[in-house]
Amino acid sequence: MNYTEDTPRAGEYLRLTLALLAKHNLSANPVNYTVWYEYVSGKNIKLKNAVDRLIRESLPLTNKKIETVYQAFVTDGDRIVISRLLTKVNLMLREITRHVAETEGDLAGHGQALDELAGQLKEVDDFEGVKDIIDQMMDTTKAIIRSGSELQNKMEVSSKDLSQLHRELEISQQEARTDSLTGLANRRGLEKRMELERIRARQNNAAFSVILMDIDYFKKVNDTHGHLVGDSLLKGVARILMNQVRKNDMVARFGGEEFLVLLPETDMDGAYAVAEKIRRALAKKEWSIRESGKRIGRVTASMGIALYDMKETDAGVIERADRALYQAKHKGRNQVVVQPALAN
Ligand code: GH3
Ligand code: MG
Ligand code: MG
Repeated sequence: MNYTEDTPRAGEYLRLTLALLAKHNLSANPVNYTVWYEYVSGKNIKLKNAVDRLIRESLPLTNKKIETVYQAFVTDGDRIVISRLLTKVNLMLREITRHVAETEGDLAGHGQALDELAGQLKEVDDFEGVKDIIDQMMDTTKAIIRSGSELQNKMEVSSKDLSQLHRELEISQQEARTDSLTGLANRRGLEKRMELERIRARQNNAAFSVILMDIDYFKKVNDTHGHLVGDSLLKGVARILMNQVRKNDMVARFGGEEFLVLLPETDMDGAYAVAEKIRRALAKKEWSIRESGKRIGRVTASMGIALYDMKETDAGVIERADRALYQAKHKGRNQVVVQPALAN
């Protein structure tokens, strides 16, 4: 979803969003916030209907229910890309199947494998699934080429097309996981990485930490200098973040002016040191508008840190970091607060 509303309208949406969050007793975490913001702005009709249905049928609302709406209707962009790729896969699969069917000889086994793929295709709804099907099609075409049948030439063409489709898929997948403004990972990218890190943490018995960071008084930057300047500042903040972390760490744009840093195999002390380094690097930078040279001044951020506990979910650790972030705001901003470990 693109947010293109002007400042007064965005302010009004914000007010309505917060009122609804309070009404339903939901925390203002980014998922809840995004769902309700889209709800009040009325632009995402399917999302609005889904939330209205929940209100009618399933009160009280919980973070989990809202998360389901988020998954289904906010991340819809993926679905469009996936269905476009699937259409192409389907066409290619049919063509290859037709060639195999028209060919005399010992190719019946391949025909059956292709039929099974056609069946699987109906179940696919994510990038991994599409990739898996393409891989299997590539294996089949290569096997047919190796069998030296009369189909060899046609299959070589198909094999090339499939490689092309595979690349296209990887680019789309990458785009779907990238925030277009800052070039950082977006929430989808973060989710995927967190899934991996959770498994690694268990395997190596070394937890990761997360730093959730929110820019202080960012609204003032927008109000004083305009949204476009606000956008460039977000890009600049993203660069500072990237410069302060190691290659293996992940920086994601978590929401509007919120960022999340994922630090694999990093304990609380390590995470605190990184957060402080980021906080200082940001606070000392003097910002100005490149074109006009007009001064913006300094911008600070508040941060909450949580160390992943093997017992909790991804959302759980982020929610705890969010609680620490809230405290950092409450205590006066431009500071880092550590969330205590979960009780046993
Ligand atoms: P606080 O210190 O409490 O965080 O104050 P704040 O002003 O940063 O917080 P608030 O949540 O009130 O406002 C966040 C603002 O960030 C409001 C919203 O318009 C702005 N914002 C969110 N996403 C974007 C974006 O992509 N671009 C720009 N320019 N502004 C954004
Ligand atoms: Mg915020
Ligand atoms: Mg803020």
